[in-house]
Amino acid sequence: MLKIKTCPSCGWNEIKKVRRNWIGTYKGKSYTVPNLQYYECAECGERI
Ligand SMILES: [Zn+2]
Repeated sequence: MLKIKTCPSCGWNEIKKVRRNWIGTYKGKSYTVPNLQYYECAECGERI
């Protein structure tokens, strides 16, 4: 797991680690990864 403390998009330093379903798109199709742990920036919404 990556250890990130600042948002690469806006530099916000209070990104949070969350665990929820990830919904993404790949080549025009949407997919869901259940129970994925990732970081989310509270400032700009960037997901890492
Ligand atoms: Zn951000």
